Amino acid sequence: MSTIFQKIIDGEIQAQKVYEDGDVLAFRDVSPQAPFHVLVIPKKPIRSLAEAATEDGALLGKLLLAASRVAREAGIEGYRVVTNVGDDGGQSVPHLHFHVLGGRRMSWPPG
Ligand code: AMP
Repeated sequence: MSTIFQKIIDGEIQAQKVYEDGDVLAFRDVSPQAPFHVLVIPKKPIRSLAEAATEDGALLGKLLLAASRVAREAGIEGYRVVTNVGDDGGQSVPHLHFHVLGGRRMSWPPG
């Protein structure tokens, strides 16, 4: 079954896109947890970081560079990049995604 992020990739549902190339899509989180909250996802359907393979190394690098790019383009200097993995990690959508959160002071440790 297609995930909500696959539907965004396929254009079946709308998202506020902030960056796109052949491999990567970045869009605003629908339920922002910070003034700036963007999700960076691969177009390749990888379920989570735990399921990324050695061959995905370059793609993972592209995702992180896209995270840096969208923050820079938004003028965000300090921010957090996080990926939740599995139920215990708090992952709700089984398609790899990096949250880019900024625009406010982050606390540590995260809950
Ligand atoms: P996670 O809990 O780490 O799997 O993160 C999933 C994120 O996807 C959450 O922050 C949701 O708010 C976000 N989300 C779910 N559906 C959409 C959507 N249609 N457009 C944008 N963000 C979404």
